[in-house]
Amino acid sequence: MARENTGSIRIEASLLLAPLAAWFEVHRRVLPWRDSDLDRQHPDPYAVVVSELMLQQTQVVTVVPYFQRWMAALPTARSLAEASDQQVHKLWEGLGYYRRARFLQAAARAIHQNGWPADLEGLMALPGLGPYTAAAVASIAFQQPEPALDGNAFRVLARLLCIESDPKHQATELRDWLRPALMAHGPSRMTQAIMELGATYCSRRAQCGPCPLSRSCRSLAAGIVDLIPAAAPRAKVRSVEITLTAIQANGAYLVNRPAPNGLLAGLWSWPFREEAQSRDLNVAETTQGYQAVETRSWKGWTQIYSHRREQVTPLLLEAEYPFPVPEHQQWVPAHELQALPMGKRDQRLRELVLGNTQDAAIES
Ligand code: SF4
Repeated sequence: MARENTGSIRIEASLLLAPLAAWFEVHRRVLPWRDSDLDRQHPDPYAVVVSELMLQQTQVVTVVPYFQRWMAALPTARSLAEASDQQVHKLWEGLGYYRRARFLQAAARAIHQNGWPADLEGLMALPGLGPYTAAAVASIAFQQPEPALDGNAFRVLARLLCIESDPKHQATELRDWLRPALMAHGPSRMTQAIMELGATYCSRRAQCGPCPLSRSCRSLAAGIVDLIPAAAPRAKVRSVEITLTAIQANGAYLVNRPAPNGLLAGLWSWPFREEAQSRDLNVAETTQGYQAVETRSWKGWTQIYSHRREQVTPLLLEAEYPFPVPEHQQWVPAHELQALPMGKRDQRLRELVLGNTQDAAIES
């Protein structure tokens, strides 16, 4: 049950959040996609879309260098619309959740073809822009008072208003409550200020002392900051052991071509197998019956995904010559390996194979 409902303090939103707007004016971080003038429409809405897609599930500090590389290589919606799959995936390599890169390119194609949508509904029709991202773009790029509620914003508002139940269940009420504050303090400023507070003082472990909202924060007054928002039940994580195999022959390596769709679409990968069978069988399986000898193994590592935990054993095998492979695989010369977009796990074996790193035994 919520101690307060948002309706009871509806008229206070702009007053309550005024100190946050003032704090943000002085203390906001300088970020490469952030406009210095928060009272005008953003001069480059494309940069806002790129940053918002990159920031989904990823921290600012990780995104900054990716954003800079991306904008240097693909500075406009048109350049992204016309880029190759390989270039797009290579620029995204290491950022994870690769569907975002594909959505971003599809969105760029729609924008290049039809121009920028005029409202929230039009933005939500772009690939990859759900209600949160569309609202963030509407407010930050176009100064439209559309409240953007992601995990950070829900946490800040739930604590500020002392909502003890799941704040997502009050999303509509929270948006209605927040809208006047966006109009009073500026949509771009207010939206980014809430994001910034959620990423800094009001992160999972709140630092309430220096927080600009500490005087009005209801969960701080009630002494229950650590209990809000209530912990969501954790998704089950499946543990698997896999053998990841680099097979070398005459200076070329056997790799799987990118799948056309699915989570890892656009990414090249090493042959691998889950450990249900013996290692000998693995060798025979990955070499399609051709002889290949194990020449090197490295320390394994644990690769963690949202629903899967892989204990990875990396191996190097040597075949006598590049034997015929099915269509979904290809022999790639060693000097071309680095240019292939790969997921994190496969990048790691590539680094080992190319001798760019020491034996790995750390968790990632
Ligand atoms: S006072 Fe603490 S809990 Fe309240 S909004 Fe600020 S950081 Fe969050």
